[in-house]
Amino acid sequence: MAPAKTRGAITPGAKQKRMGYKETFWMACDSTEQLRAEYGPFHTRAEAESEAGKLGFSYLLRYEHVIGENDDIKEVRCIFIELPEPPRQLYMAEKLHTRCSTCGASAVHDYSWQAEVWADIHEFEHSRHRIRLFEQTRADGLKEVPGWRDACA
Ligand SMILES: [Zn+2]
Repeated sequence: MAPAKTRGAITPGAKQKRMGYKETFWMACDSTEQLRAEYGPFHTRAEAESEAGKLGFSYLLRYEHVIGENDDIKEVRCIFIELPEPPRQLYMAEKLHTRCSTCGASAVHDYSWQAEVWADIHEFEHSRHRIRLFEQTRADGLKEVPGWRDACA
């Protein structure tokens, strides 16, 4: 789904006849560049965050409008908030990590045959080094695959 353009201005809540009240709303956006895609507005950070997650956006933009006594916008403040975990990682293929427990050399692979080739070369170049294999999954992070070299020996 292509992100829609920013919808029109947010409707102000109950008009308050006092000076300097603030309206706050949230946008999901894909970068902090000038030419970024924004989606929203949302009234709460949680809504914006969940939408950012669906779109694969990594940032939230918090807008504050300072409203003057004549309901005019006196000041616009915006603050970028980087989401703790870039949502695009959710869409990445699972990775395989190899690490030599003898010398600490490590590498990342897309396919198990690449991990095996890496281990073969490393073991050929460094006799008796022991390679461990880890699978990176979304749910569990890095998880060791036990005995994988024994299986293909
Ligand atoms: Zn090694």
